[in-house]
Amino acid sequence: MKVLVIGTGAREHALCRSLSQDPAVSELHCAPGNAGIARVAAVHPVDQLDGAAVTALARELGADLVVVGPEAPLVAGVAEPLRAAGIPVFGPGREAARLEGSKAFAKDVMAAAGVPTARSYVCTTPEEAAAALDAFGAPYVVKDDGLAAGKGVVVTEDRAAALEHAAACDRVVIEEYLDGPEVSLFAITDGTTVLPLVPAQDFKRALDGDRGPNTGGMGAYSPLPWAPEGLVQEVLDTVLQPTVDALRHRGTPFSGLLYAGLALTSRGTRVIEFNARFGDPETQVVLARLRTPLAGVLLAAANGTLGELEPLRWSEEAAVTVVMASEGYPASPRTGDAIEGLAAAEAGGDAFVLHAGTRSGPAGEVLTAGGRVLSVTAVGADLAEARAKAYAGVAEISFKGAQHRTDIAAEAAR
Ligand code: AMP
Repeated sequence: MKVLVIGTGAREHALCRSLSQDPAVSELHCAPGNAGIARVAAVHPVDQLDGAAVTALARELGADLVVVGPEAPLVAGVAEPLRAAGIPVFGPGREAARLEGSKAFAKDVMAAAGVPTARSYVCTTPEEAAAALDAFGAPYVVKDDGLAAGKGVVVTEDRAAALEHAAACDRVVIEEYLDGPEVSLFAITDGTTVLPLVPAQDFKRALDGDRGPNTGGMGAYSPLPWAPEGLVQEVLDTVLQPTVDALRHRGTPFSGLLYAGLALTSRGTRVIEFNARFGDPETQVVLARLRTPLAGVLLAAANGTLGELEPLRWSEEAAVTVVMASEGYPASPRTGDAIEGLAAAEAGGDAFVLHAGTRSGPAGEVLTAGGRVLSVTAVGADLAEARAKAYAGVAEISFKGAQHRTDIAAEAAR
């Protein structure tokens, strides 16, 4: 099978790594990729938002499957011309991707499907926003309606800051605050059958102790030893399957990866948000535990034959990933610095380094090229071991201004 992966981040590197280990994959390509992906796949400098260019590349390569990693190309409708050309695509079309592209649309689908989520108002004026904030009280949750790479959400006790964020966005969703720990649960679906993966937890805030601004994600781990028994089945029955059914009944079937961000609140499980693609950095730890070869699963989702698949097989081991980010991330990341120690981090075979914002320099060196730079990942007998191995990898790597959290999976590993 010839597979083309679209995207440039550590999520795509994780996908490429798993696909490169699948004996069914004869050729692996990625567009546009990054310096790390180039080690496991042939990379092609194609604009990932340009559906015609991606389709032309897939045709030229004779791709049997295209896997679209990030949300932006999905929301831009890159899947449509591929499907029109008869090429199997893992990832939803533009309409179904609105589940992620518009928080208001997601709320609508959830209401229609009876999926438990925070109560909310969609607001377009400062007066509406103020009324909604006062209706719920502090802590205030204000979400940009559109895509914001995980950075469009402000959770604050400060009413003025909440109003300021609302004013900076065209349309916002203001909702009730959900207490309780967060869980990310991914499911692969062909629009009818829903196959949940193993739960993971990510760390959205920039600094230790969940302080600092929201980011795309600073680390993740799986499994969750503290999660209630039966959580996956409950979420499948009350969230994932009803959502997939509702989208099919609307005439916009969702195939690809449905990501439920959940809060386990004192009043039960609630959806915080949906994403229409693999989450980054949770993918790094979920795929590290997947034993079933990945390509066949993604192809079955693309072809509508997931129901015929054997149950997925998982490693009992634990996985931890730690994100190394540039100085200034998330507000204004600096780029262009040389990264040292990549080989040393992987030398013992205990950790592997997935690249996010990296590019190759003129002399073959690896340079920082984005906010999140690397995702240092390790598997171990338990979370404590996986964590120790991942942080040992991090300790080998340096670049100017590098920052990472030191408490990824620390509490769960205790
Ligand atoms: P989102 O982009 O919707 O996942 O939001 C980013 C982060 O903001 C989430 O991972 C939560 O930590 C936080 N958040 C979002 N919505 C709520 C809510 N209703 N209550 C509490 N925290 C929230």
